[in-house]
Amino acid sequence: MDVEIGRTVAERFQRYVRYDTQSAEESKTYPSTEKQKNLGRLLVDELTELGLKDATIDEHGYVTATMTANIKRTIPTIGLIAHMDTSPDVSGNNVKPHVHKNYSGQDIVLPGDSTQVIRLSETPELKKQLGNDIITSDGTTLLGADDKAGVAEIIDALHYLTKHPEVEHGTIKVGFTPDEEVGRGVEHFDVQKFGAQYAYTMDGGEVNEIETETFCADSLHITFSGVSFHPGYAKGKLVNSIKLASAFLNKLPQNTDSPETTEKTEGYVHPHAIQGGVEETVVKFIIRDFELEGLKKKEASLRALAEETVRDHPRSGFKFEVKESYRNMKYVLDKYPEVVEKAMKAARMAGLQPKLHSIRGGTDGAKLCYMGLPTPNLATGMHNFHSKLEWISIQDMKKSVEVILNLIKVWAETTP
Ligand SMILES: [Zn+2]
Repeated sequence: MDVEIGRTVAERFQRYVRYDTQSAEESKTYPSTEKQKNLGRLLVDELTELGLKDATIDEHGYVTATMTANIKRTIPTIGLIAHMDTSPDVSGNNVKPHVHKNYSGQDIVLPGDSTQVIRLSETPELKKQLGNDIITSDGTTLLGADDKAGVAEIIDALHYLTKHPEVEHGTIKVGFTPDEEVGRGVEHFDVQKFGAQYAYTMDGGEVNEIETETFCADSLHITFSGVSFHPGYAKGKLVNSIKLASAFLNKLPQNTDSPETTEKTEGYVHPHAIQGGVEETVVKFIIRDFELEGLKKKEASLRALAEETVRDHPRSGFKFEVKESYRNMKYVLDKYPEVVEKAMKAARMAGLQPKLHSIRGGTDGAKLCYMGLPTPNLATGMHNFHSKLEWISIQDMKKSVEVILNLIKVWAETTP
């Protein structure tokens, strides 16, 4: 595709990362930090300049806009979504993007802090970047490719379409969201009003990956109850719930089923907090599995272990409370196979060998799937996100723009 894309996507990206849009975990407001709206307002201006007349930012910080169809026949309205905030884990204040031109296989020492080094030995993906131009921060902050790369790629694709009216497309809806990194990105997102039939988040990593699966996730509280008594006169009477909880935890599988012992498509049960006293002790879990059936099995086995624990203590007991967190988006996407098929086709047209990928976590797209908007996650090219060693290549960003444009063409071509 022509050079026009490359010129603009990298420029846009480097402009956006200079805006501090870090979201905050403990905040009670929405968006969690007001400063995210500064980038939002800039994006509204840029979308307006591109001719998207309804570009707007609402009180929650959502930026939306419509690119109207340039053909008469009816085509599904497609949404393109990216998030504006950056991770609370690493500072996003005063980001200074740095372009390392024509990468030749060396370790990349970041210019503002020489202890921050992206090592080839730890970063096998770098081997595919020989000759490419790699953008990093100066090493004192994150870069913010997650997810300003997604934002820049979407806007750059729209820019291309405005310059090339001969490319046929249906109606395209754009959505830029705050607070994805604190798990609240779609909390106030109005799917109905957004008006897309299908959507794609641009928030993935390696450029040929299409993410179509997330975990099924529940949280679980097991509250053990004992009997409190004056410890001096407690013989045969006191039942200590702290000890019950500890006996229970000892029964958990040691070498399997834990975050620290699983990878790829394996699920886990993870006790992440414990609090209590003699009378009552609560153990808090998160449970993860790619299949709902597996999730339920894991919960059943924890219940069995809790039952076993209290069996020998007649006056003890436990309460078992499961709360749904989110579900694998695959269950929704499987009902609309063309959404992923078209993304695969678009990637192949760009010379990529697309690979379906599972996320060991959730995404806004997964939530949107269950809010009525089937939304797989496409790659932006970002790497080492949530870290000072974050990087992305300009060539991969251009590839992602090309995939977006192909996708828009594929939807227009194959829909009669
Ligand atoms: Zn992200």
